[in-house]
Amino acid sequence: MSVESMLGTLPRVRLGRTPTPLHEAVRLREALGGPARCPRILFKRDDLTDLALGGNKARKLEFLLGAALRQRATALITTGGPQSNHARMTAAAATLCGLRCVLVLSGPGPRGNAGNLILDRLLGADVLLLDPGLDEVQTATAEQGAIRDAEESIRSQGGTPYVIPLGGSDWLGTLGYVECTRELMQQFSGETATPAHLYHASGSRGTQAGLELGRRLCRAPWRITGVAVSPGEASKRARAVELMHEAAEHLGATVAFSADELITDQDHYGAGYAIPTPAAAEAIALVARTEAILLDPVYTGKAMAGMLHHIREGAHSPDETVLFLHTGGVPGLFAMPDSLMA
Ligand SMILES: *Cc1c(COP(=O)(O)O)cnc(C)c1O
Repeated sequence: MSVESMLGTLPRVRLGRTPTPLHEAVRLREALGGPARCPRILFKRDDLTDLALGGNKARKLEFLLGAALRQRATALITTGGPQSNHARMTAAAATLCGLRCVLVLSGPGPRGNAGNLILDRLLGADVLLLDPGLDEVQTATAEQGAIRDAEESIRSQGGTPYVIPLGGSDWLGTLGYVECTRELMQQFSGETATPAHLYHASGSRGTQAGLELGRRLCRAPWRITGVAVSPGEASKRARAVELMHEAAEHLGATVAFSADELITDQDHYGAGYAIPTPAAAEAIALVARTEAILLDPVYTGKAMAGMLHHIREGAHSPDETVLFLHTGGVPGLFAMPDSLMA
């Protein structure tokens, strides 16, 4: 069975504007030494998926909302950092599907009325910001409590809550990047210069799991490097493998893979999640000034810093094509302007 028909068996709500365009970064390649030294660079513009300013969560939410509506949900609840792109796009998806939305936000990141927080409220979500003074364990407890309270309150009003995990990364969300791989294969069909390598920002691993599963199911020619935007690799890697197996099972596919097949670059998250790095600031400025494409300080700036590092150290031959998956996050720029002072 084709990947398209496998995915077709699952409920899906169209939310994003796809296929997203491919952009050849000629000027960035020039700035990195030109065709004699630098591989051909393509951007997959998933920052242009729409759904309230775009990003990778649009593809995940199409399958998550498919499941939520099938269960006759009336409200979505999800979690994330105060500047979560996933939270913003979940609020947008809820609006489009006529559902209520509760966002439980905690952890590091700017909390002022800036960036995604403005958009969450504008989109009509109920935003619960947890105390930034709590430690990790207290935050997890407070978050679970807030989710339970929201579920109860929705039920007491006769509604049906649907809880979406952090980053939309369960097996349903994972399908979003299986679907993106199918789209990429279609975009490259008939082309000889297919990418040898794909780079992307890796957080809760749903994107990486979907891309890796998609690569195997579609027999895509590229290797994948997820550039980690936060520490905790061992448990996140195990989670990615779990997501791949679960998603494969729901698609009726048998695919074998192990954790050591996943390639994650651990060298570019700096001091931690949402903490800016000079290399990301440099990458953001370089891409803005060559391609007029905007990256963000939390995800895509760090991922680009990773890809630039590999290109500059000669990891790719100039006759190769590398693909950078732009996963969005641009509203974060407006919450963290200081992160851009390289
Ligand atoms: C959520 C997010 C990611 C990471 O995706 P995961 O599936 O959580 O690994 C990358 N880039 C942006 C802009 C995001 O919002």
